[in-house]
Amino acid sequence: MHHFQYRDNELYCEDVPVKKICEDVGTPLYLYSHATLTKHFRAFDGSFKDIRHLTCFSMKSNSNIAILRLFYNEGGGVDIVSGGELFRALKAGIDPSMVVYSGVGKTDEDMEYALKSGIMLFNVESRQELLRLNSIGERLNKSAPVSIRVNPDIDPMTHPYISTGLRENKFGIPIEDAPDIYRLAKGMRHIDIRGVSCHIGSQLTNVSPFVDALKRLLVLIEELRNNGITIEYLDIGGGLGITYSKESPPHPEEYAEAIKKEIKNDIILILEPGRVITGNAGILVTRVIYTKSIGQKNFIIVDGAMNDLMRPALYGSFHGIQPVIFSPDRKKLKADVVGPICESGDFLAKDREMYSFEPGEFMAVMSAGAYGFSMSSNYNSRPRPPEVLVKGDQYFIIRQRETYEDLIKGENIPDFLLK
Ligand SMILES: *Cc1c(COP(=O)(O)O)cnc(C)c1O
Repeated sequence: MHHFQYRDNELYCEDVPVKKICEDVGTPLYLYSHATLTKHFRAFDGSFKDIRHLTCFSMKSNSNIAILRLFYNEGGGVDIVSGGELFRALKAGIDPSMVVYSGVGKTDEDMEYALKSGIMLFNVESRQELLRLNSIGERLNKSAPVSIRVNPDIDPMTHPYISTGLRENKFGIPIEDAPDIYRLAKGMRHIDIRGVSCHIGSQLTNVSPFVDALKRLLVLIEELRNNGITIEYLDIGGGLGITYSKESPPHPEEYAEAIKKEIKNDIILILEPGRVITGNAGILVTRVIYTKSIGQKNFIIVDGAMNDLMRPALYGSFHGIQPVIFSPDRKKLKADVVGPICESGDFLAKDREMYSFEPGEFMAVMSAGAYGFSMSSNYNSRPRPPEVLVKGDQYFIIRQRETYEDLIKGENIPDFLLK
């Protein structure tokens, strides 16, 4: 459930009419519901309340510092994948000792920044990365808290672009190689082994792949402990799916029950949910510019585009399309909702049975709170949209719309070209 609901045929975000915000700040815009974000975080985190755990919000799904701060106030940490994300987390006021750092390509600069900042855990994804981190630790005279990201070779049964836990994926270390890596790590003076981690994919709509992966990790932990390696943390990643259309993913409660059944109280669980917290807590609102029909095909041309919301172009993802002002006599049609960008891949919906729209009307693109703004770009020199957070009957601009000046920030023309 979320707080984007109709009242008398008009779409509201909590107690604010969406149309009012559109008129005040313009379109396209991202809109998030504070109550929904809070409820989703609590539903997830609360499901694990009877065991030792830390919920580290996966901030690549939505990295606005206001949103990060909201979850931190709720007791969460963050999962980061870059130095830039660490910067954002610190700017949001998050305690570095609640930051876990994943990613296959951490550079020396990234690792040095994170080590100096005093993060909680590096999820190391290769032998070379481990060696590099140890030498950075030596140079800084610090010990790096480490867990090895293990690839358990489990098929998450999701879209291939968001599947990460199969042998063929670039992520982690094959589980059969893990004991060797841990042995190597144990001998390193600037590596402090703390845990085992994995993340098998995103938008999973079944608990069984999570449980299968967890079982493999627990066998590994047992083996490591028998070899005198202490494992304090078990990081099982994120990946729980949401309903975009007709999917019926498990409720966080059901997910938590399945996980808790497997583990004993001799470990601290780390969770890295992203999409399940923010996905249905945000929408993208656009305005219809034109409509046109070419033969059998109907196009609704809107002011939001693939640079604002990349998921349909990237994965062919489904996002619900809803009118901001609903009228019961509205006709239905089959149409493509497309943006102004010069790419045929620029669509928000394709061959969709939906309500018809007239130019000037506002359209809500649902379930855009995760991997929406955070994947946006300036392609076609389009300033990125603002982000707005609604709380009750108030709204707050948590990121301003970019300006044309923002588009050329940092660019310059060398003197030799100026003649
Ligand atoms: C992307 C990612 C997550 C979050 O995935 P969701 O599907 O959004 O929950 C968690 N951990 C890691 C390492 C990731 O790369």
